[in-house]
Amino acid sequence: MERDTKSVHVVLIGPPGAGKGTQAARVASRLGIAHIASGDMFREAVANRTPQGVQAKAYIDRGELVPDDVTVAMVMERLEQPGCREGAILDGFPRTLAQAQALDRAFREQGTRVERAIYLCAPTDELLRRLAGRWLCRSCQAAYHEVSNPPKVTGQCDRCGGELYQRDDDSREVAQRRFEVYLEQTAPVIDFYRAEGVLDELDGARGIDEVTHAILQTVRRACGSI
Ligand code: ADP
Ligand code: ADP
Ligand code: ZN
Repeated sequence: MERDTKSVHVVLIGPPGAGKGTQAARVASRLGIAHIASGDMFREAVANRTPQGVQAKAYIDRGELVPDDVTVAMVMERLEQPGCREGAILDGFPRTLAQAQALDRAFREQGTRVERAIYLCAPTDELLRRLAGRWLCRSCQAAYHEVSNPPKVTGQCDRCGGELYQRDDDSREVAQRRFEVYLEQTAPVIDFYRAEGVLDELDGARGIDEVTHAILQTVRRACGSI
C-alpha cells in the first residue's frame, strides 16, 4: 500500500453497539495502522488480574467509566509502542472531554494530531439488538453477532478458532447504564471534534461492508495518500 511517512490517527466515537470494534479492526487492517481499543485493553487486564484490571473491573461491571487518569495513561503508553508508528485507529477512546483534551495535549507535543473523528450512530432499538446478540472471541477480541454476523461454527472464532463468549456488561441493566453514561460523558466529545473541524457523522445502521467503505472514504479524503 502506497503511503507517505506521515502517521494517521483516527478516533471512532459512538454509543455501545454502534460497530466501533467491528469497523476499527477492518479499517486498521486496510490502512496498515494499529487498532487501539480501550475496552479490549481493560478486558485483557481484568482477565490477567493485573492491578489495573482489578481496579477497572468494578467500573466495567457497573457500566461506569474507568477514571480518566488510569485510562489516559494506559492508552498513551500503548500509542508510544513501535506498532503505532504508522498511526492508529482509536476505538472507544477518548470517551470524556478530559480524555479528549489530554490526547490533544499529548499529540500537540509530539507534533501530531487527530486527523479525523468519526461519529457512528444507529437507532437505540438496533443498538439493543446488537448488544443482546454480541459474541466476542476470548483470544483475538473479534466481534460476532448471532443474527447479523454469525461465526461459521457456533461458539468458535472464524479468525483464530478461539472460544466465543458474551460480555456480562451487555446485560440489559448494565447496557442501560452504559447508554446513560454515553449521553452524559461521551456526547460532549463529539462537540469537541466538531469544533476542531475534524468530525464526520456516519450512519452506522447500514451493513458492515457499507460502513467500512464510508469510513475508508472519509479517512482517505482527509489524509490524502493512504
Ligand atoms: P462498547 O464499545 O460496547 O461501548 P467498550 O468495550 O469500549 O464498550 O468498553 C467497555 C467498558 O470499558 C466501558 O463501559 C468502561 O467501563 C470501560 N472503558 C472502555 N473505554 C473507556 C474509556 N475510554 N474511558 C473509561 N472507561 C472505558
Ligand atoms: P461497539 O464496539 O461499538 O460496541 P461492535 O463492533 O462490537 O460495537 O458491534 C456490536 C454488535 O453488532 C456485534 O455483535 C457486531 O457483530 C454487530 N454489528 C456491528 N456492525 C454491524 C452492522 N453494521 N450491522 C449489523 N450488526 C453489526
Ligand atoms: Zn479469535
